[in-house]
Amino acid sequence: MASIEFVHVTKSFDKHVVIKDLNLKIEDGKFTVLVGPSGCGKTTLMRMIAGLDPQTSGSVLIGGKDVSRVAPGQRGVAMVFQNYAIYPTMSVRENIEFGLKNNKVPKEERTRLVESISATVGLQDYLDRKPATLSGGQRQRVALARAMVKKPSVFLMDEPLSNLDAKLRVQMRVELIEMHKKLGTTFVYVTHDQVEAMSMADTIVLMNQGQIQQEAPPETIYHLPSNLFAAQFIGVPPMNVGDLGEDGVKFGFRPENAVLSAEPGDNHFSVRGIIVTREMLGSETIYQVRSARHSFMVKCTEDLFTVDQEVCLGVKPDKMFFFGADGKRIERD
Ligand code: ATP
Repeated sequence: MASIEFVHVTKSFDKHVVIKDLNLKIEDGKFTVLVGPSGCGKTTLMRMIAGLDPQTSGSVLIGGKDVSRVAPGQRGVAMVFQNYAIYPTMSVRENIEFGLKNNKVPKEERTRLVESISATVGLQDYLDRKPATLSGGQRQRVALARAMVKKPSVFLMDEPLSNLDAKLRVQMRVELIEMHKKLGTTFVYVTHDQVEAMSMADTIVLMNQGQIQQEAPPETIYHLPSNLFAAQFIGVPPMNVGDLGEDGVKFGFRPENAVLSAEPGDNHFSVRGIIVTREMLGSETIYQVRSARHSFMVKCTEDLFTVDQEVCLGVKPDKMFFFGADGKRIERD
């Protein structure tokens, strides 16, 4: 097992600075998710950990040791990508065994390891099959098993589920959480999907434009986002934000924390508006409410209103957020 540290790391491609003076400690044995919009630098960070791309300056430490001069194969790191490489002509067993054979692990030990790992990922009944006869999820498991069998101290996964359909993705998320529990290894997982990040992470590292916006457990980012970016990245639909009209200060509230009623209630923040859209999703309904100055999304557990209806939107004061002109959340007493 191993922690990972970035110390004043900068990465440029030619003159283009992608990561600027980044400091980050990824804890040993934790499930850490790097999340952020496309192009924010997630894959670049992973490649620096793996040793596939050297940092321009600063140091990368694995298990407390500077690995800047350590070759990728010697770092104790395994990586699983979105487009995972499994060999189509080899059976599942041969695919899993491949790295072990290369490392000259004796036959008996190989067999034992392949059997134990394939049971961990639920492939024990498929060992003699060829990849073409497997489902997408099973193929993904072969890729995971291939990485696992080498007993890495760090697992790097870059959008490993994005080629799977929605249902399988949800199932594989649960399986990965289970695998992490069983292995107790450091997992670093990249996604641009905040739902995936929220459901899997012990710690989320939220990035934008090569910089860390917030590093915290999912519930902290949800309840105490450090800035407007974090507030609007985590949560579906995103947090509603509006201008207070005072020196660039903004207010915000989550769609699930607003209450709609026909008449004003005793909520502190309230505004009149018209329902412009209604999306019934089964257990909840999402309304878009237009007031004189803003448009807000509201998530309700009951479906009581119709389009064009006039409503009063209320939010309790403790559910309101405020952000300064610099975008940072303003702490309240
Ligand atoms: P995505 O979610 O789309 O995969 P990402 O957050 O993983 O995005 P990176 O792949 O790390 O983003 O890319 C970060 C930035 O670095 C982007 O602006 C990208 O264009 C740039 N970049 C990445 N690799 C290279 C390269 N080999 N040469 C030049 N620029 C690169």
